[in-house]
Amino acid sequence: MSAQPTQKPISNPVKNTHLMTSRLWMPRQVLFTPDALEEPFGQQIYTRVTDLNLPVTVLKTNRLTGLRGEDDRQTYRNAKQTLAVVKAPPGTFRLQPIPPSADWQMNLAEGCPAHCQYCYLAGSLQGPPVTRVFANLPQMLANTTAYEQPEKTTTFEVSCYTDVIGIEHLTGGLAECIRHFGNRPGTQLRFVTKYDQVDSLLGLPHNGRTRARVSLNTDGIARRLEGGTASIEARLTALRKLAMPREKGGGGYPVGVVLAPIMPVENWREQYTDLLNRVAAALDFPCDLTVEFISHRFTPGSKSVLETWYPNTSLDMDEQGRAPKRNKFGGVKYVYRPDEMKDLRSFFYTEWQQRFPDAPILYWT
Ligand code: SF4
Repeated sequence: MSAQPTQKPISNPVKNTHLMTSRLWMPRQVLFTPDALEEPFGQQIYTRVTDLNLPVTVLKTNRLTGLRGEDDRQTYRNAKQTLAVVKAPPGTFRLQPIPPSADWQMNLAEGCPAHCQYCYLAGSLQGPPVTRVFANLPQMLANTTAYEQPEKTTTFEVSCYTDVIGIEHLTGGLAECIRHFGNRPGTQLRFVTKYDQVDSLLGLPHNGRTRARVSLNTDGIARRLEGGTASIEARLTALRKLAMPREKGGGGYPVGVVLAPIMPVENWREQYTDLLNRVAAALDFPCDLTVEFISHRFTPGSKSVLETWYPNTSLDMDEQGRAPKRNKFGGVKYVYRPDEMKDLRSFFYTEWQQRFPDAPILYWT
């Protein structure tokens, strides 16, 4: 069971306009495979979703079927309204490195209820974008101990393929992870979110071994391109709650800002200056803070998937305005041109270091 919020409300000096809390995601259907229901953690999820009166179907086999609609749009809608509880296949137990974000990625779910029009999952996950949650999470967590490196703090990222807070009320999986790593000296759990329902995390025994990061962008980009997520103001309030010391009613977590995807939109300097000022106002007390800067990029594969998911998108994915960047396997991604990239990078480094001289910049990409 996840801890219940016991803290008093934390006053928030950040300006209170557009404080739009994301609505809790309630899937239209919840599917369980027979294997998932044999797992005690799968049964806990079953109890949570039935307590919420969500329509549950237990499938006859372990294959997910029936998600395709008449066309791509309908398939997308069906999938985005579905939570599937499955058992993670054996391959999931072979962890993959995930530089520069962490040493290893461990996915407690694959798929996400939000509707970001640049979604990082497009082109990475196969099939309809249903949210699959893994019922054998405790075994997956036990497996991570084999990846701990004694000579250094080993970091584990759980947000590569989902938004962990967006589904936490349905699964309790992130709380399981926080408790697990709280008991593992020499490790750090890392997660990032665009949601704001963090109250259930504030009392958990993280022992400083979870870095809770919030993904931020300009209000305009968030409103235009990040459907279903919390407003930037609500995310700033969540960041403040997570970072606030325990004795003041917060979570006392090491925290992080992930500024992503950075885009040189019109008046970008003013808009990002405003955002950084608001981060400074939200974190107006000493805390353990880092930042990661991620500029927007796309691949031919992600572009073609995103064009089916969001045919009317206003997201700029014109290859002509970008620089191709090749990886060692011959794949290409389109990033901003070197002169534009240099301008952006120098702006963010200068502005960040002015406001947060003690908060390390982990990387720019
Ligand atoms: S929150 Fe992340 S995973 Fe979810 S839709 Fe947005 S970009 Fe995709």
